[in-house]
Amino acid sequence: MKKIAIIPGDGIGKEVMKASQYVLDYFDLNFDYNDALAGRECFDKTGTTIPEETIKISKKSDATLFGAITSTPGEKSPIVTLRKELETYGNLRPIKSFEGVNCIYDDLDFIIIRENTEGLYSQDEEIIKENEEVIARKIITKKASKRICEFAFKQTIKESRTNVTAAHKSNVLKLTDGIFKESFYEVAKNYPDIETNDFYIDATSLYIVSNPHIFDVIVTENLYGDIISDESAGLVGGLGLAPSGNIGDKNALFEPVHGSAPDIAGRNISNPIAMLLSTSMMLSYLKYDFEAKLIEKACREVLRKGKVLTPDLGGTAKTYELADAVLCNIREIE
Ligand code: ATP
Repeated sequence: MKKIAIIPGDGIGKEVMKASQYVLDYFDLNFDYNDALAGRECFDKTGTTIPEETIKISKKSDATLFGAITSTPGEKSPIVTLRKELETYGNLRPIKSFEGVNCIYDDLDFIIIRENTEGLYSQDEEIIKENEEVIARKIITKKASKRICEFAFKQTIKESRTNVTAAHKSNVLKLTDGIFKESFYEVAKNYPDIETNDFYIDATSLYIVSNPHIFDVIVTENLYGDIISDESAGLVGGLGLAPSGNIGDKNALFEPVHGSAPDIAGRNISNPIAMLLSTSMMLSYLKYDFEAKLIEKACREVLRKGKVLTPDLGGTAKTYELADAVLCNIREIE
């Protein structure tokens, strides 16, 4: 029996997680679900944004489903902590267009692979002089750089893709991003059948908007990956449709790219598709390929029909209505 940790978090995280569980329950997979706390509400209740118990539950699970959290000023980020604790070093973010969705490009299909454990996103900050001078450390190691590049090439083969682009800023950050670029080409030597190239991150951001069809797989450092995955999600229908997986050698955590969206939380109008697609990625990781494909197919079909859409997609449906439409579609095509 697979153990699944469920961390709904805050705001719309709780709404979209309910939708995911609604669809998962249909499959009757005999999973052992364990709920765990994290986020702002958790801080208000327990004094910590991520209790030790949550980390323990997540570590012991075969996979974790994570909703979204509202950040707590001055406190550590639960998701950054979890990614580090679980050593889920590979963050996988598919950018795939959806038929029927009003978006900038309707034929995109590439993936972004983001290093998850180091770099500027690790919240390694220090006060040098109160209110005057602060510092953020960007640590880049050969070990983590080679590990993420290796992950990217393996994923390229797994998905029958052909080209990997490394995105960095080694012309300015010659030491840190220099190591990243060097590691990329060292690892690439072991994959002679895969085409490789590299761009500076600013040029990458431009091409993502102006010529995204040149990309197949992009591998990049933590903060750059955070930024270009939101940018890319914007090209194919927005954050409500963007799933992600955080994958390591022992653990894996799946979450929508979006945050807790305090501006719409509590109104039940959040789009559950990103969470449902993250759930599909989790099922695929756990080798429940049939169910994984069925969820993705049903999400795409509901969007293509365009009858039940949440407000971010131009409709008036509630979160649970869209989730229900996906479930009805699963029943129809199964
Ligand atoms: P974080 O820093 O946690 O990523 P954020 O405020 O930068 O949070 P989001 O919470 O993802 O970003 O919200 C960005 C915008 O996208 C908001 O206007 C929000 O309402 C919208 N949004 C995000 N997710 C969804 C969703 N699932 N459905 C509908 N709208 C969404």
